[in-house]
Amino acid sequence: MTDERKMTGESESGDGGRRDSREPIRGVHRIRKMSKSAEEVHPKKAFGWAARDTSGVLSPFKFSRRETGEEDVAFKVLYCGICHSDLHANKNEWGSSMYPLLPGHEIVGEVTEVGSNVTKFKVGDKVGVGCVVGSCHACDNCRNDLENYCPKLIFTYNSIDHDGTVTYGGYSNFMVANEHFVLRIPEGLPLDAAAPLLCAGITVFSPLKFNGLTEPGTSIGVVGLGGLGHVAVKFAKAMGAKVTVISTSSAKEKEAIEYLGADAFIVSKNPQQMRAAMGTMDGIIDTVSAVHALLPLIGLLKFHGKLVMLGIPDKPLELPVSPLIFGRKIVTGSCIGGLKETQEMLDFAAKHNITADIEVVSMDYVNTAMERLAKGDVRYRFVIDVANTLKEA
Ligand SMILES: [Zn+2]
Ligand SMILES: [Zn+2]
Repeated sequence: MTDERKMTGESESGDGGRRDSREPIRGVHRIRKMSKSAEEVHPKKAFGWAARDTSGVLSPFKFSRRETGEEDVAFKVLYCGICHSDLHANKNEWGSSMYPLLPGHEIVGEVTEVGSNVTKFKVGDKVGVGCVVGSCHACDNCRNDLENYCPKLIFTYNSIDHDGTVTYGGYSNFMVANEHFVLRIPEGLPLDAAAPLLCAGITVFSPLKFNGLTEPGTSIGVVGLGGLGHVAVKFAKAMGAKVTVISTSSAKEKEAIEYLGADAFIVSKNPQQMRAAMGTMDGIIDTVSAVHALLPLIGLLKFHGKLVMLGIPDKPLELPVSPLIFGRKIVTGSCIGGLKETQEMLDFAAKHNITADIEVVSMDYVNTAMERLAKGDVRYRFVIDVANTLKEA
């Protein structure tokens, strides 16, 4: 496979006359260099909404998916959350977008077909797919159930799949995925409000566990009360933590305390409040992706406390070292979670009635939803009602 990719890659670069259209059809182009046509490799007709260029505007799109393989699960998409990453990818803000780009990695649906070797799922099961649909299964991370850190991981959309095609996400009528990357949605979780757990949920759950922040009585700060932050509050509270929300304004204070159950609320621009909370937190989950100062947050940590960064600012942040040294504090990061842990997170969420707070929207509202998301105008996650509102392109 590696050699084939290299060869087709080389022949692509010689195909000079089609420069503008080359990127969007890269996956298909690769398949054409193999003996089979795209239709033979991907015979199942599918449709969804895709972005075609850096405007990021989504519109109806026809494509195809592979036949359900021996280890594959095919499912009808019921709901798909709108993650902030979708917004960045649609507009190529991270520089890696391949158009047409069909986003969506908070996907929940119902199994319609399983391959002959599938053991975990049967037709009719409620399932989900998050950010990852493939990995190497051989590296240290894969062997330790950390597929999310596999150097060869395949993202659910805008990634090159094992067969050389570009992956397409959940803003579509159905999905086909290897069963290893399919999650079971536990009974009792509403399917629409569970969808965002597949990215937002695991993104906050995993670092709480990995950093030893799950003991009852642990003092946790959550910076930023958005898609990630609001589920971080819920998970930390369910684990028995004392949770403080840290926000730039008091606008969400009442909601954070009375509705989400946070124990305290600090306005980061209020020096008195920040000073009063210095040295009180075991860990801080920082979900902010805008450039912001780390020193005040490090100051909130106890000795040996941990600041976990989950947002990706577009410029490097300033890292003050002396408070790290004199307090043996840790600044770290975390990226989603492995499949085993994602299932554990879903089971924990079902047990503790944790879901995301959502606004369900129709497929044809998606561009407006993206505009509102860019302005932070959603509490707290948009979820597309795919099954009822996606019309065949
Ligand atoms: Zn996401
Ligand atoms: Zn691997």
